[in-house]
Amino acid sequence: MLLRHTTENIIDRTALTINPAKTCQPIGAMYAALGVHGCLPHSHGSQGCCSYHRSALTRHYKEPVMASTSSFTEGSSVFGGQANLLQAVETIFQVYNPDIIAVHTTCLSETIGDDVNQIAQKARDDGKVPAGKYLIHCNTPSYVGSHVTGYANMVTSLVKHFSAKSVSKKNQVNVISGWVEPSDMREIKKLAAEMNAKIVLFPDTSDVMDAPMTGKHEFYPKGGVTIPELISTGYSKSTIGLGPFCTEDAAILLDNKCKVKFDILEIPIGLKATDNFIMTLSRAAGVQVPDSITAERGRLIDMITDMHKYLFGKRVALYGDPDILVPLTEFLLTLDMKPVYIVSGTPGKRFDASMSKLLNKAVPKAKYKNGERADMYLMHQWIKQEPVDLLIGNTYGKYISRDENIPFVRLGFPILDRVGHSYFPTVGYAGAMHLLTNILNAIMDKQDRDCPEEKMELVM
Ligand code: SF4
Repeated sequence: MLLRHTTENIIDRTALTINPAKTCQPIGAMYAALGVHGCLPHSHGSQGCCSYHRSALTRHYKEPVMASTSSFTEGSSVFGGQANLLQAVETIFQVYNPDIIAVHTTCLSETIGDDVNQIAQKARDDGKVPAGKYLIHCNTPSYVGSHVTGYANMVTSLVKHFSAKSVSKKNQVNVISGWVEPSDMREIKKLAAEMNAKIVLFPDTSDVMDAPMTGKHEFYPKGGVTIPELISTGYSKSTIGLGPFCTEDAAILLDNKCKVKFDILEIPIGLKATDNFIMTLSRAAGVQVPDSITAERGRLIDMITDMHKYLFGKRVALYGDPDILVPLTEFLLTLDMKPVYIVSGTPGKRFDASMSKLLNKAVPKAKYKNGERADMYLMHQWIKQEPVDLLIGNTYGKYISRDENIPFVRLGFPILDRVGHSYFPTVGYAGAMHLLTNILNAIMDKQDRDCPEEKMELVM
């Protein structure tokens, strides 16, 4: 038993998190910045933070992640990192020639109180930012929030620095993407193109974090939302934010700054959330839903109907990011499964409200919690008290899955020990079929493995 120290007996903890269901803020800021074409994320802090953030992203996406650091030493840790950042900006533009440097802070630079806004302005005033190039920043102290908060902060910073106001609106819709895989961003663009809806998707990590192998190294891959597109988000007639935790702040700022009204939806995971996205996009862009998308929806429903008997009543534990967990819970309910334990390390009152709305009637005994004490240790304790039939979450769940012999579907960030997540979408109807296939395979593989010989069936 790898997790043999997990007790069944739950003691209320006020100051200890064990195996958190989150990671640190700057990782989110770095991932969001990589969704902008020609952008180099810059970590304002010590080298160790930057190395960790890069390696976490590299291990998940299996792509090299470029980022620079202010390389704090003892001196900058005591006297502040202004000199390091000013020097870094000058050197980076000279040597690596990005279009944008996107600075995020770390625990260290936040604790010593570096005013990054003032330093960035000084860099511009001192002529360290060449004409046509940009320096943007956001604050990501990692002793609050999570990687989700960091992502949201960088996305909001994109709006703050780029979106331009215009009296005449363009016939285009902004789609602010929550933290999803590059494959998901590609799928959202594919759906919009199929509907003939003109969208600006930002951030967009497709063709950056899933770039094809061409034999030639591109320091700045061809993907990512461009600066003119980001500027034009202020001219769009409306905005759709996918995932309230990641996108609502940016959508509100865009409305306040440029008068672009918005809808905040759940990430289109599963049938209902995808229906909602398709109908909202159809209304916002003034386009019809084509037959091809209706047919794809029909295929998903057919698959659910065919396989319902393997799903009905199955108890599921899930953990990860709230923007994924809410629509995933809704999808599991659509499948007549029972999401019984749900934890997210990301704080925010909205989580409780969304979960109680979904679960209070459908699964009244479900336990759900978010914030600092909502860790994987607690979820494991719940599982020990009453087991589940399926576990869904990032790679860290493999220990619980092994110890408790629970079928396991990897979903969310990070996935360090498998591939496919960055290539096959989870969003949209096609994504829901892919997710459903993974769920069914996990459940049916266990049945084949564990059933008595006389119960082994060729056709299940
Ligand atoms: S938690 Fe803070 S100190 Fe640790 S890697 Fe993240 S930013 Fe750096």
